[in-house]
Parts: sequence; structure tokens; C-alpha cells
Amino acid sequence: MREIKMIVIHCSASRCDRDFPFEALDRYHRSLGWKGCGYHYYVTRDGRIHVGRRESEVGAHAGPKYNRHSIGICYEGGLNPQNQPADTRTEAQIRAMHSLVADLRRRYPGAEVLGHRDLPGVHKACPCYDVRAST
Ligand SMILES: [Zn+2]
Repeated sequence: MREIKMIVIHCSASRCDRDFPFEALDRYHRSLGWKGCGYHYYVTRDGRIHVGRRESEVGAHAGPKYNRHSIGICYEGGLNPQNQPADTRTEAQIRAMHSLVADLRRRYPGAEVLGHRDLPGVHKACPCYDVRAST
């Protein structure tokens, strides 16, 4: 089994007033030459948790150095209607992500939960909220 040291939270960087369903995300990542969705979990605005990859598989979400030992979770949204980075999580998304992260924490004790932007050398807003302060 792979050693999981981190749980990395992302946003899809799509507008909160537009649909970006799991199928579109999966298609987009395949178009990049990846074997499907790069995240392990994708949480849509309705609070549904879609499985992108098995936890035993290495994801494609935080660069090779961090993918190896992490689980990637992405929520649909992250941009407001003006196309600016914002915490656009719905109540349903917040609830779903909390229970998902709680479950992962139980199964991978010691794994650090952080946002994509908290990784060294990352210069983007993703996931557009302070994960460390809110989980
Ligand atoms: Zn990200």
C-alpha cells in the first residue's frame, strides 16, 4: 500500500454559476493525456462525491513529488461569477468534504490536510480558502 502523508484540497477553478460536472473534468484530464480524472475525489455543488481514482493509485494533482504520497480532493467551483478566486463551496459541498476528510483522517492517521496553495512553490489561489483554518 502507498504511504499517504498528505490530503490535498483543490478547486476546479470553474465559475460557481456554471456546471462543471465530473464527466467534463474527466474528459478534460484525459485530453491532457492522463488516465482520467487526476483527483481521487471530486465533490460537485450538490454535495455528491465522485470517485476519480482509487486511493491505491497515484493521482495527478499536486506535481510528481507530492502526488506519490497524497490523496487529492477537488470541489466544483472556486471562481465567483466575476471570474475571481473565491470560496464558492455550497453547504452541501462543505458537509460532504468534512465527512470525506474525517473518514480519510481516520484511515490515514498522521496525514496532513492542506490546500494546494499551501504546498511549497505553488503560486495559485487553489483551493481559494484557508484549509488549515477550516478543517
Ligand atoms: Zn489545485
